[in-house]
Amino acid sequence: MDRQHLLDGLMEEIHQEYQDTANYTHCQHVSLAVEEALREVPRDLFVPPDYRDYAFANKPLPIGSNQTISQPYIVAIMTDLLRLQKNSKVLEIGTGCGYQTAILAKLATKVFSVEIIPALHQQALDNLLICGVNNCHLKLGDGNEGWPQEAPFDAIIVTACADEIPHPLLEQLSQEGRLVIPLKLYGQQQLCVVTLDQSRQPHVQPLLPVRFVPFVRVS
Ligand code: SAH
Repeated sequence: MDRQHLLDGLMEEIHQEYQDTANYTHCQHVSLAVEEALREVPRDLFVPPDYRDYAFANKPLPIGSNQTISQPYIVAIMTDLLRLQKNSKVLEIGTGCGYQTAILAKLATKVFSVEIIPALHQQALDNLLICGVNNCHLKLGDGNEGWPQEAPFDAIIVTACADEIPHPLLEQLSQEGRLVIPLKLYGQQQLCVVTLDQSRQPHVQPLLPVRFVPFVRVS
């Protein structure tokens, strides 16, 4: 099947999953901007050669180092929940292979992304270079610390499941910013949107049961 048909099929599945989960997420439709980004970023270049045949399936896939590239629906809904503007400055924790990073780079002005596993950091650098993405900065390190030198961020996305919100990420979120993060709540992973009130106290909105790889705590 040609690329166009594979992409059409994938988008159809994503549209259907938005409908099926709308009661949880309050998002009925994938936004046009996110759909465009999903159609433009070549997911097949981000998955290992052995899995290229499955690159346009709505499924997570292994990327080495015991990690996965997220399911396209999850990439879409997390991106929509960030409510990015053209001039947004975004922080991503958990670069992985760089696919979500490339999607964010289509929608925001600048993306900063931190990865803790050296092999994946290097993979993402290579992948983003091949795709000609030039508005991303990648750092090898512990995402628990965020990227204080570049704060504040209009949006922060965490792509691994944490037990609690790392405090530096809250400090680095702009007053009107949105943090999208999978959190373990009552023993179950929930995709959450976190916003700040006037006194910068976090308001956590759990939206959707999910399955993510664990967020590494170094200390
Ligand atoms: N967005 C990625 C998903 C990768 S899976 C993609 O599209 O491919 C989650 C990633 O989070 C893994 O690469 C894992 O190594 C990374 N990670 C886990 N804990 C981390 C931490 N404390 N700091 C930075 N990255 C972390």
